[in-house]
Amino acid sequence: MATDSAQEAAGLARTVLAGLDGLLPEVDALYQDLHTHPELSGAEVRTAGVIAAHYDAAGLEVTAGVGGLGVVGVLANGPGPVVAIRADFDALPIAEDTGLPYASTATGIRPDGTTVPVMHACGHDLHTASLVGAARLLVAQRDRWRGTLLLIAQPAEETMQGAKAMLGDGLFDRFPRPDVVLAQHCAITRTGMVHHKPGIAYSACRNFRITIHGRGAHGAAPHWSVDPVLLAAQTIVLLQGIVAREVDPDEMTVLTVGSVHAGTRPNIIPPEAVLEVTLRATSEPVIDVLQAAMERIVNGVAATGRSPRPPEIELCEHTIAVDNDEAVTARVRAVHAELFGAADVIDLPEANKGSEDFAYYASHRGRRIPATMWFYGSTEAALWDAETGELRERMARMPGQHTPFYAPDRLPTLRRGVETLVAAALAFLPGRPA
Ligand SMILES: [Zn+2]
Ligand SMILES: [Zn+2]
Repeated sequence: MATDSAQEAAGLARTVLAGLDGLLPEVDALYQDLHTHPELSGAEVRTAGVIAAHYDAAGLEVTAGVGGLGVVGVLANGPGPVVAIRADFDALPIAEDTGLPYASTATGIRPDGTTVPVMHACGHDLHTASLVGAARLLVAQRDRWRGTLLLIAQPAEETMQGAKAMLGDGLFDRFPRPDVVLAQHCAITRTGMVHHKPGIAYSACRNFRITIHGRGAHGAAPHWSVDPVLLAAQTIVLLQGIVAREVDPDEMTVLTVGSVHAGTRPNIIPPEAVLEVTLRATSEPVIDVLQAAMERIVNGVAATGRSPRPPEIELCEHTIAVDNDEAVTARVRAVHAELFGAADVIDLPEANKGSEDFAYYASHRGRRIPATMWFYGSTEAALWDAETGELRERMARMPGQHTPFYAPDRLPTLRRGVETLVAAALAFLPGRPA
C-alpha cells in the first residue's frame, strides 16, 4: 500500500474514531458485563443473545444461530469490497483470582457433566466488546465510506469448533463472501502496542486422547497384571524424544502430554490409563510427522508391554495454522503505523505457539480469501515498564492469559481494540467525499 493511501485510510479512521471518547463508557459496560458472565465453549447462550441485541441496536442486519451460537451482523453500505471482521466470545474453565470488582464467579457444565468455574482468561470479552464498539462507530459514520461490513461473532474458539461450524453452516454462502477477513487477539504486551506477523502467525494443532489398555489386578500381585500406569509412564518418556530427535531443529514443534489419568487407589492396578496430548507445528506436513511418530511410539510401547489390545488414539480437536496474507498484513500494518506511530507497532519475530481456528476463514471452497490476524497489548503500562529485557522476556513475567490472574488494563485496551479494528476495516473500505 502506497504511503499516501495509508495516510488517507488513517485520516478517515481519525474521523470515524472521533466518536470513541463518547462511546467508550458503553463499550466498557459491555466488556464488564461479558467478563462477569463468561460461558464455556459451545454453551455461550447468554453471550450470543447480548451480542445479537447490540448488533441490532447498532443498526446491523442480524442473524443468530449460525453454526450453533454464532451471530452475524451485516451492514451493506453501497458498492465496494466486503470486509469481514471476526471476534470470538467463549471463556475457559478457570477460577478467576484477579480480585477485580467485576471478576467472574460464574460456573458452567462441561460435556462430561461436571460443574466448573468459568473465566474470560483469554480476553475474548475484549475482542467482542471492541468489535461492537467499532461497528457502532462505522455505522454512525456510514456516509464517509462505502462497501459491506460482515461482522462475525464466533463461539467455541477454545475448542477449535466454532469457525468450522459457522463456515459449515454457510457463513460465506448465506452472507456476502468477504474480499478480506480480519481479526485481532489481545496479548500480554503493554497497552497501546500492536503486533503484526506476516505468514504463519499461529501453529497448527492436533489434540489427542489416548487410551492405553492393561489388565487390572491387586496391587500386591503385579505379575498377574498388565500395568497400564507403567505403559503410560514409558510412553510419556519416549514421546519426548520426538521433538528432540525426529524433527528438524529449525522447525517449531511442540509435543505436550497435558493430562494423565489412571487408577483410584495405591493397591489396585487399574485396567487402563488415559493420556491427553497436544501437538503443534507450523505446517500440516510437519504435524503429520509428529502424529505418525506419536502413533508409532504409543502402539509400540503397548505391544512391547503385552497390552491385551491396541491403544485407542482419538483426534479430539484440531486446527490448521493461521497463515496471514502478506499484502493484507502489510496494508493493515501501514494504517496502524500511520495512526498510532511506528514506535507502538512492533512486529512479532516468530509464530505464536498457540493455535487459532481463525485459520479456517482464509479459504472457501478451495479458494483462498486474504486474511490477517494481529495482536494488541493489554498489560498496564506501569507493570510493563517496570520490567526490562526484550519483548518475549518481559511477556514471560506478565500475568498470562489462560491463568486465573489475567487482568487486562481494560480502558486503554478496549480503546486500542476499537481503534485497530476501525483502522483495519478502513484500510479496505474506500472513503466517500465528505
Ligand atoms: Zn485462549
Ligand atoms: Zn483466545
